[in-house]
Amino acid sequence: MADYIYTMEIRLTPDQQRGVTLVQDIARNAEMNIYLTGGAVRDIISGFPIRDLDFTVQGNPLKLQKELERAGAVIASADDDLKTLSLVLPGNVRAEISAALTERYEKVGKPPIVSPATIIEDLRRRDFTVNAMALSLNPGSRGLLMDPFNGAADIEAKVIRILHNYAFVEDPSRLIRATRFAARFHWPLEERTQARYQSAKENNYIEHINDRAIGLEIEQLAYEDDPLHIVRMLEKEEWLKVLNPHWTTAKVDTAGLAHLLKTRQQMNELGYTPDPAPAVLYFLTSRLGDKDIADMRKLIPRKDLVEAWKDLEDNAKDLAKRLMGKEAATPSRTWKLLSEARPEMTLFLAVTARQQAVTQKIKNFFTKWRQVQQKIPLPEMTELHITPQWPQYPKVAKDVFTLLLDGKLRSRTEILKFLKPLAPPPPPPPPPPSKRGRAAKAALAAQAPAPKAKVEEKKKAKQDVPAPSAPLPTVKASAPEKNRKKPAAKMPPAIKRASKPKQKAKGKKRR
Ligand code: ATP
Ligand code: MG
Repeated sequence: MADYIYTMEIRLTPDQQRGVTLVQDIARNAEMNIYLTGGAVRDIISGFPIRDLDFTVQGNPLKLQKELERAGAVIASADDDLKTLSLVLPGNVRAEISAALTERYEKVGKPPIVSPATIIEDLRRRDFTVNAMALSLNPGSRGLLMDPFNGAADIEAKVIRILHNYAFVEDPSRLIRATRFAARFHWPLEERTQARYQSAKENNYIEHINDRAIGLEIEQLAYEDDPLHIVRMLEKEEWLKVLNPHWTTAKVDTAGLAHLLKTRQQMNELGYTPDPAPAVLYFLTSRLGDKDIADMRKLIPRKDLVEAWKDLEDNAKDLAKRLMGKEAATPSRTWKLLSEARPEMTLFLAVTARQQAVTQKIKNFFTKWRQVQQKIPLPEMTELHITPQWPQYPKVAKDVFTLLLDGKLRSRTEILKFLKPLAPPPPPPPPPPSKRGRAAKAALAAQAPAPKAKVEEKKKAKQDVPAPSAPLPTVKASAPEKNRKKPAAKMPPAIKRASKPKQKAKGKKRR
């Protein structure tokens, strides 16, 4: 049996891994069998980034809601009819937990009649072979891949294949999904799938798509890495107008969208992971009328996404105002304000701000001010015993950073002049070696005689080694989740970095 758990663990981000463990343990405590399914399994195997976690449980996932909330999950929507829970797990990890169900389609386009089922039965109602796999998270079979339609082979062959001839008739939203996946992965439709797709298109099955499916498709666009490419493909296939009759690529603010995705990339490189989804929807629909936008919002199932999209402009205005006011009168105050702001807002404002001063401040926050950290003289601080082990270290380091930001300390000499009076007293000298130790050393020396001068040299070198020094700061920021809990302004990133080796050493000891 291939060890898919290993593959899963190396492919998931640490936050996603924690999310899997959390949901798995809660399901286990509730005595429900649980599986990782859908796109998460596909992406683990194919090597594409894992966007969200899809779980399937044998039982009702809504029963897990309270425990999940207690563990820090935020429920975005709970659908008792479809037995589906959409949530955000700690660390901004999107997840969906669905019940294993079988579906019986009675009328084209009408929702199917569902009933509880086993996981294998559930996989039969999936859209494409590559999405019809499940990875067991249960104690007896953890890591077992269930792949009744040979999805792994289709991943290998890079094709999108439906499970049966009626796939598009049963659920015409699969036509849009097929286009979306084909566009995202650059995988073609398998030959017979293509023929069914074409015939479904000619017979206009799409007319029977239901509102929930439309809403889900709009929602999914927000999370695509290259939404413009997907929108273009949807337009080409004539599905975009299904999502909204007035939607075309001409209604997209392409420059805004490109700027957004570029800025998001830059923020990612600095360690921030803002959720761009609300802003993506904002730019994708920039030139649509209010009524069309309101109609689309009504259909999106994830209400947290809709709210965030609605609030974008007001929140950005608010942040811009604060950045223009007293609260951001100095660089250090601006640093504090932006460190505490939600990364989503900083991202959106960075792209949409009209005031030059606001844009400049955000730019400084991400570039120039980060470089100020390089000026913190860590070697000299170590010599002064100002090291992360010292309880006052965070405050002193923060003060230096603040003064440097505001231009109140300009040179190394000025920094040292500021630091010297604050330095702690040097630690007491190490106790002299014990008699036994001395005798043993003497015996050793007798066995392997070394020139006296060399021994002395070594002894001296040992005494000269400074206290464990902090690594040089980098311009990267710490993870924004951490920022939110402990604003970077209170403890600049350089300082957080500096305390890392200590944690590592601890971890090693435990192992
Ligand atoms: P993504 O990476 O976009 O999240 P995904 O395949 O996980 O891709 P989701 O919309 O998250 O897509 O759906 C999760 C899973 O639910 C799918 O992989 C598929 O197995 C199943 N699914 C979703 N929509 C349909 C549908 N219309 N018909 C059949 N199965 C579906
Ligand atoms: Mg998914």
